[in-house]
Amino acid sequence: MKLENKIWDKSECLSRDEIESIQVQRLRETVKRVQNVPFYAKKFKELGIGPEDIKSVSDVKHLPFTTKTDMRENYPLGLMAVPKEKVLRFHGSSGTTGKPTFVAYTKNDLEMWSDMVARFLYSGGARPGHTAQISFGYGLFTGGFGLHYGLEKIGSSIIPAASGNTRRQFTLLQDLKPELLVCTPTYALRLIEYMEDEKIPRESLNLKVAFLGSEPWTEEMRLYIEDRLQVNTCNNYGLSEVIGPGISGECVYHTGMHIQEDYFLVECLDPKTLEPVPEGELGELVITPLNKEAMPMIRYRTRDLAYIVKDSPCPCGRTTKRMSRIKGRSDDMLIIRGVNVFPSQVEEALLQCKDVTPNFLIVLDRPGSLDRSVVQVEMSPAFFSDKMSEMQMLKTNLEETIRSYTGIHFEVDLVQPQSIERFTGKAARVIDNRPKEK
Ligand SMILES: [Zn+2]
Repeated sequence: MKLENKIWDKSECLSRDEIESIQVQRLRETVKRVQNVPFYAKKFKELGIGPEDIKSVSDVKHLPFTTKTDMRENYPLGLMAVPKEKVLRFHGSSGTTGKPTFVAYTKNDLEMWSDMVARFLYSGGARPGHTAQISFGYGLFTGGFGLHYGLEKIGSSIIPAASGNTRRQFTLLQDLKPELLVCTPTYALRLIEYMEDEKIPRESLNLKVAFLGSEPWTEEMRLYIEDRLQVNTCNNYGLSEVIGPGISGECVYHTGMHIQEDYFLVECLDPKTLEPVPEGELGELVITPLNKEAMPMIRYRTRDLAYIVKDSPCPCGRTTKRMSRIKGRSDDMLIIRGVNVFPSQVEEALLQCKDVTPNFLIVLDRPGSLDRSVVQVEMSPAFFSDKMSEMQMLKTNLEETIRSYTGIHFEVDLVQPQSIERFTGKAARVIDNRPKEK
């Protein structure tokens, strides 16, 4: 299915000089604005840097970093740069441990946010008159509301289905016939599984584009979802600490995610040396939002690993730099017997084999002095009913495939269909029972 390429906003197509001149000016204003935040005022004073020192985009390298720990230490609202009366909305990060970290938005922040979401949705094929089913969690999580207001800005109608209750999701998909679906890639897999189990004909749906985000996924998973669900998929990126979804998104050509450079200065740095890595090389994304009022942020260390696409124009006509999909988080990286492994690599390996589902659980242990790595993998229902005798062969094949993707021997434990927990939001793929390093 071919989607039409259209541009929402001409600021997506500026020359490099024009983009940089906007960035410098906005970076200077941001540095000025953060002087209202004691945490930053102190840091800038120590460094002896002020707004007048920002003369080019590369001067960002002199500025201090901000980390998740800084947000926790300034809990709940210590990083806010405006009085609370100016705040129109609060959100919180989906913290897996402890308290959430709060973020705040002024009226201008919310307008800017819906504008950036509208841009990437439009670039991926959302149009006025379309109906969109949002199967993201609403609430503190930025995904639901972020996409909601972006779609509204475009003029698409919205079914705020929220996450979970898969049967009802299909009632809405079949009866209201939305063209657009918004959910996590993991939930798209769940929908496919349900559709196949319940023998729901694809023709009873009217889906054209699925906007998938809020967790890392792979190109193999895209092919799987596009094939089974018969949709175009569009990846997008964002994180609540910086604003939420909208930092970047794919256009219909899938050449990487266009970064909204007039709103964000995105650096890609070596996570150890914190020096820039060359374009095309994997590094940690460090993001400075350029227009935020309520909670401006300087050089936020995302821990997300990606690369900036080497300079090549995109056929869509947008001139913004593009980033790869997130390859993993420096926090998610597992070190197994000294080798760096990302759960996404295991997923890529599993998607090579049709006899298993992409639902898996990695269990790590250290019974003696060596790490033991097991991955529980669900057999497909077809394999489970017809080809059980070939189990040993499947297990050996998978172990070899996973080794070729990760460089590590994982013992494969084949488990029954439906036995691994399903997630409506972000999936939890690892249980690490190894003793903690001192
Ligand atoms: Zn493009």
